[in-house]
Amino acid sequence: MERVGASGLRIVWADGHESLYAWRDLRALCPCAACREAESAPGLPMGVPSDIQPASIEPVGNYGINIRFSDGHTTGIFSFDFLRRHCRCEACLPTQSTEG
Ligand SMILES: [Zn+2]
Ligand SMILES: [Zn+2]
Repeated sequence: MERVGASGLRIVWADGHESLYAWRDLRALCPCAACREAESAPGLPMGVPSDIQPASIEPVGNYGINIRFSDGHTTGIFSFDFLRRHCRCEACLPTQSTEG
């Protein structure tokens, strides 16, 4: 279902919905504890390289994927539920609040 491209990750969902995530966006969205802590610390820049690429992507059970980024960050586990909630397409963006 997932397709890995140079510019990002494309997922076609079971219901036919299609999502495309730029690698940089995924790195910035990383839900791991370290990234969430950095995000809540005031004044700290995210510092995501614009040309960031995945070093490898591995499935995590049936529920998500583990993306190891080219900047050495390897703890980003993205559940499909999380990814779907953060779909960046025009149809989904307006429904997304600033929550979580
Ligand atoms: Zn992270
Ligand atoms: Zn969408």
